Amino acid sequence: MLKNCKNVSRLVFGKGSFDELDRILHPIRVENEGYMVFVVDKYFQNRALEARLPLHKRDSLYFIDVNLYEPKTTQIDVLRDEVLDKKGLPAGVIGIGGGSIMDIAKALSLMLTNKGSSASYQGLNLIKNPGVYHCGIPTISGTGAECSTTAVLTGPNKKLGVKCDWTVFDQLILDPELTATVPAEQWFYTGMDCYIHCVEANHGQYQNAFSKAYSQQAMELCQEVFLKGGSGQNPENNEKLMIASLMGGYSLTYSEVGVCHALSYGLSYILGYRHGLANCLVFNHLNGYYPKGVREFQEMVKNHHIELPQGLAKNWTSDTILVMSKVAYGLDHMWRHALGLNWKEKVSLEKIQEVYYRL
Ligand code: NAD
Ligand code: ZN
Repeated sequence: MLKNCKNVSRLVFGKGSFDELDRILHPIRVENEGYMVFVVDKYFQNRALEARLPLHKRDSLYFIDVNLYEPKTTQIDVLRDEVLDKKGLPAGVIGIGGGSIMDIAKALSLMLTNKGSSASYQGLNLIKNPGVYHCGIPTISGTGAECSTTAVLTGPNKKLGVKCDWTVFDQLILDPELTATVPAEQWFYTGMDCYIHCVEANHGQYQNAFSKAYSQQAMELCQEVFLKGGSGQNPENNEKLMIASLMGGYSLTYSEVGVCHALSYGLSYILGYRHGLANCLVFNHLNGYYPKGVREFQEMVKNHHIELPQGLAKNWTSDTILVMSKVAYGLDHMWRHALGLNWKEKVSLEKIQEVYYRL
């Protein structure tokens, strides 16, 4: 069956577009109990952006520290209960931050109208009711979470997205100026998430003219930014990377991630490595699967003087490596895309463990 993809309904792009937010929210404010919930990366607390938030009297503002852990089902459940208990159903949820906040905003929007724990909705089309209006304002580029149909959550049994058409944002505000303060290494790691999405989307049985067009364009933008774009963040690079992230996300929507994401999920789920870094650690050792992509990635690493952590596996027990390998091996859809229906003839738990031992 072919995918019938839901896309973001509306999108504003450009420097300073953040200041359109109040105008954009105006017609939505009449919905439900008539107030907005802002979930904002804690980085912005007491910084200039806080003063620019178009908060109305009844609105709620939550600053969330995304450095403690990646978004969790328990975290969403607690937040949802608190929001509903305090003021009832909001008109909308506004997420301002990186991939973590994008996922929190998407998941919160859905869980406000769906009973029980978000853990019971991890998977495809398990959500029963549409969520409330939600608007995403990314402040770091690369994950594609701003346009994807999934809100990735770590639950008691798995790291898996709450995935359905209603997950997709109703509105995006893409203001590249908001990404100017991202620390250099984080900028690189999250940017590489986009590059790796493009490589993986392009290599596998689910690739097609649609996914390829977006991934090729996103990859070109990544090359301009990370190979020809000078030493790093500048307004032009930040603009390009924001669009690359979006296009990488579109590409994935109509294709699939592959070997790197399967292994990096294991690393994030069991040891808590953050998505962008986990991908970079793994991808660096996947020249057997993606030789051209890995070669170019390593050039980008060198170009930006990134010191990828080495020798990590020395501190991991064989049990930990086995458990991570089982998590990675369990991601059937990624392997099927990357290696074909008969992927189990091409990769084994032992082969996956070998990669982890090399990290
Ligand atoms: P993040 O949101 O986890 O943030 C990384 C760091 O950057 C944090 O310390 C944050 O405070 C900081 N930061 C963000 N914006 C900043 C700014 N403008 N200035 C200064 N610091 C800033 O990073 P990410 O890499 O964008 O997101 C990773 C998350 O995205 C993971 O939880 C992963 O599971 C998820 N993800 C989701 C999808 C999806 O389709 N839903 C796809 C890929 C990844
Ligand atoms: Zn990714």
